Amino acid sequence: LSSRAANILSALDIPTTGDVNGVYDGEWKGAGDIVESICPSTGEVLARVKTASPEELHVALGKASDAYTFFRNVPAPQRGEILRQIREALAAKRSELGALISLEMGKIKTEGVGEVQEFVDICDYAVGLSRMMNGRVIASERPGHSILEVPNPLGVVGVLSAFNFPVAVYGWNLALSLAAGNATIWKPSPTTPLCSIAVTTIIARVLEQNGIPGAVAGLVTGDNNAGAAIVESRDVPLVSFTGSERVGRIVGKTVQSRFGKVILELGGNNAAIVMPDADLKMAVPSIFFGAIGTAGQRCTSTRRLYLHRQIADEFLERLQKVYTRLTPGDPLEEKTLLGPVHSAASIGIYENAVQHLKDIDANILAGGSRYAAADISASHLHGGYFVQPTLAVPKSADPADALWQTETFAPVLNCAVFDELEEAIGWNNAVPQGLSSSLWTRDVRNVGKWIGPGGSDTGIVNVNVGTSGAEIGAAFGGNKSTGWGRESGGDAWKQYVRWSACTVNFSDAAPLAQGVDFSV
Ligand code: NAD
Repeated sequence: LSSRAANILSALDIPTTGDVNGVYDGEWKGAGDIVESICPSTGEVLARVKTASPEELHVALGKASDAYTFFRNVPAPQRGEILRQIREALAAKRSELGALISLEMGKIKTEGVGEVQEFVDICDYAVGLSRMMNGRVIASERPGHSILEVPNPLGVVGVLSAFNFPVAVYGWNLALSLAAGNATIWKPSPTTPLCSIAVTTIIARVLEQNGIPGAVAGLVTGDNNAGAAIVESRDVPLVSFTGSERVGRIVGKTVQSRFGKVILELGGNNAAIVMPDADLKMAVPSIFFGAIGTAGQRCTSTRRLYLHRQIADEFLERLQKVYTRLTPGDPLEEKTLLGPVHSAASIGIYENAVQHLKDIDANILAGGSRYAAADISASHLHGGYFVQPTLAVPKSADPADALWQTETFAPVLNCAVFDELEEAIGWNNAVPQGLSSSLWTRDVRNVGKWIGPGGSDTGIVNVNVGTSGAEIGAAFGGNKSTGWGRESGGDAWKQYVRWSACTVNFSDAAPLAQGVDFSV
């Protein structure tokens, strides 16, 4: 193990020799297959992780159910106090955990630290929420009666997460789930096991100090089969799934077929629209970040750029300049803006997309291939997955083309020119996905159209703000094939409880509703 990797792992109490346990249900273990965690910047094997065997998964689910029956009786504000301590413990390791995200996922360190900050923020939010998860009292039509809407804990929440946000997505779910009195079982991406082990280690310590069963925040690393076992389990009333549309479709159907609840946070295919009155000084760097931040692997990354004819040439010229100035580097180094893509599979996705652009004779303004070793100054990065962010203008802007319809999870930005805002809004909405979108304008009339009934149909609709980089306060999620799920702020917590409508009769008579007469 390189010394920089060893230092990052040790700072988070992850063993640097021998195989690492990838299962936590109150105890650390792992008798299943071994997976290797690979550093995308160097190709180095960071650790061999012992994942969950089917038997361990079964046991972990049982322990999560038991932990839930304990935890649901802990008063909500006390659960909030535990979340406050989790917040403090995470904040104390903000930089170390941010570095691990950068090391294992490949995003640049400032984005890794930002992810931890998001977890800290949602814990703050959930601490407050623990005193505000209010039900309602409703006027009854019957004398001496009251109707209460009561939120109670739900049970075990299964959290299945994607590789690109290996910490924050779990944070959004864990914080709301714990505030609501549930136990959580986490199945992270098979390629980011160390991030999940580090986070679970931090949380387990806080739970232990408070005498709370560790299985309240359990972890089962593993492959798709481990995910499928959670999805199929009738002991998991709510499955919160973040990942691709392909897998989301399977997860949604399976959970629905057993009448469970599901939150789906799936792929995005996000557009930015630039009007002629936009402030290009703001728009160019923001759209650049949207397209190449996390090397184009955010669900909210900008994938489609629609430019008004009046500013299209100037905008593309400016954007091309920043693209060509960009150099890849070590994501752990402060000045790096472009790290690697996550895996060999990501390289394949990138290469297919770029090849398709070449096949259809698109005008490629920047990028178009992997970086050669000669383009990367630091020799320790020569085994890394570095690709040139690609900026292209395909000949056809027809939104029905496969190119515009599909999410390419890599740094590839396709551009087209429009004449009227209505046309661009039509293109924005003409794709299956509906996660994020962004309009750049100074004209309030455009804003009205954009956020109104005939405007953008995505879950996140921004104005003079890029498509990526949401705050935790609002509910986060997308519409259409993005899955309609909402997580984090807003009213998202209401999905993590079961609601009861309780009619209570305080009177000496038992009248029926709607005046129904059933005298005997
Ligand atoms: P993925 O769908 O391949 O995997 C996601 C998770 O599902 C992993 O933990 C995986 O092991 C598990 N899984 C795979 N097959 C399964 C099955 N049959 N049953 C149960 N679980 C199974 O996604 P990925 O490649 O890790 O992530 C990239 C995708 O995630 C992109 O499409 C991206 O847009 C999306 N994403 C969406 C959001 C959002 O909030 N909308 C956030 C982050 C990522």
